[in-house]
Amino acid sequence: MLYESTRNSSISFSSTKAITEGISAEGGLFMPKCFPQFSKSEFKSYIGKNYNEIAKFIMGRFLDDFESEEIARFVDAAYNTDRFDTSEIVPVVKVGDNFFLELWHGPTCAFKDMALQMLPHFMVYSAKKEGDDSEIIILVATSGDTGKAALEGFADIDGIKIAVFYPESGVSDTQKLQMITQEGENVYVAAVKGNFDDAQTGIKKIFTDNSLKEQLAKSGYKFSTANSINWGRLLPQIVYYVYGYLKLVSDNEIEYGDKIDVVVPTGNFGNILAAYIAKILGMPFDKLICASNENNVLTDFLNTGVYNKKRDFKQTYSPSMDILISSNLERLIYLATDRDDSEVATLYSEIAKNGSFEISENAFKKIKENFLGGFCSDDTTVETIKRYFEEYNYLTDPHTAVAAEVGDRLSDKKRLVAATANPYKFTDVIAKALSLSDDATAEEISEITKTKIPAPLRNLDKKQVRFTDSFDKENLFSAIEEHWEI
Ligand SMILES: *Cc1c(COP(=O)(O)O)cnc(C)c1O
Repeated sequence: MLYESTRNSSISFSSTKAITEGISAEGGLFMPKCFPQFSKSEFKSYIGKNYNEIAKFIMGRFLDDFESEEIARFVDAAYNTDRFDTSEIVPVVKVGDNFFLELWHGPTCAFKDMALQMLPHFMVYSAKKEGDDSEIIILVATSGDTGKAALEGFADIDGIKIAVFYPESGVSDTQKLQMITQEGENVYVAAVKGNFDDAQTGIKKIFTDNSLKEQLAKSGYKFSTANSINWGRLLPQIVYYVYGYLKLVSDNEIEYGDKIDVVVPTGNFGNILAAYIAKILGMPFDKLICASNENNVLTDFLNTGVYNKKRDFKQTYSPSMDILISSNLERLIYLATDRDDSEVATLYSEIAKNGSFEISENAFKKIKENFLGGFCSDDTTVETIKRYFEEYNYLTDPHTAVAAEVGDRLSDKKRLVAATANPYKFTDVIAKALSLSDDATAEEISEITKTKIPAPLRNLDKKQVRFTDSFDKENLFSAIEEHWEI
């Protein structure tokens, strides 16, 4: 299967090339030239199969230049009970008309593990196949969840080093502790003085500096990223939507062919795009419901066809969705314009210049047929956590609560709801929802709700702190240079 760019459809890359490059030279994102075909009977033959079998089946079809034994090996190395706290990998939990697809049972208790446990295997294999024997240094700027999930995914993987930079002001105490206590010989973590934008700017400066690139190449290194524009991060996310639907069939909640909705708490648009691709592959999904917090740029886009990032950035209780530029939306627009690369390139040069764009009527119509958008305030998020706990005895994290609320409002069907984080990552918001004092501990919440604190979040404050460095955003390269003596 060959891959093209959303801003240049004449490109024809193998999947290994698309994964090692990450982003196309002209700024576009890689997409398969056409989607693999799955028949209904083929899907039906996977009813009742376990997560790993379905992962091998779906990903194998997209990565036809990988040997199937290798894909099987990667899947089993990523999704197993050493790394996940349940052999189901992704439990599907019925709560009213909602079926929560619990994507947070991995090592960092957030859904990003689903992709970041696979990506390192894809990267090492792809680099080898492309004949590239330089050592890869993964650079990550994080506002919280991505950094830790990337560290867990890449720790002690041969041929790779990973450096994560987090803003000194801007990550929660739990998130910071999770990162600075990270184990592994090939990992490095440091604070950046400032906010997330400063960390991001510092990293971008490294990526766009050609003299650094040359210096690195001479020493046998190259930089890469683990962020969600890499096709290798998107692909593993398609799997759980197929798995979730087939699980509802095998649990006799629906019959194969019944239409359901899918609700996704959305930031960078990667997770919900994966649900749309599952629909294109043949999953009987009706509406894909994009749930946002008060940074509701996507709600407005899905209701008007105008994407306008010129608005105030708000810090909310669901920080992983505090985003004004949703990178993976570009892939949806590419599909909605029937793969019109020049239209996509024009739209994205407009937004770079003016901060907004409007898509064509045809493209908008196509998007409206598949997507609904809604948003939820912080107050309603807290109320929703409370309501789900009181009515159903089900505790959600703030991101999942946003999705549950928007789904309740916009969907009249049974629905899969992507549950993206374990509630114990956000104990301050949970404390509010349960009317506990602001400094209520995880142990108190556990006692009151009779829910378990996940093992990776237990006793974090007793783990050894390994990283205490802090830098100005201008000095991130010298930080790496010194740490690894490049
Ligand atoms: C990253 C993240 C999201 C947003 O997912 P996207 O793929 O960026 O839309 C939602 N919830 C949680 C907990 C996350 O970490």
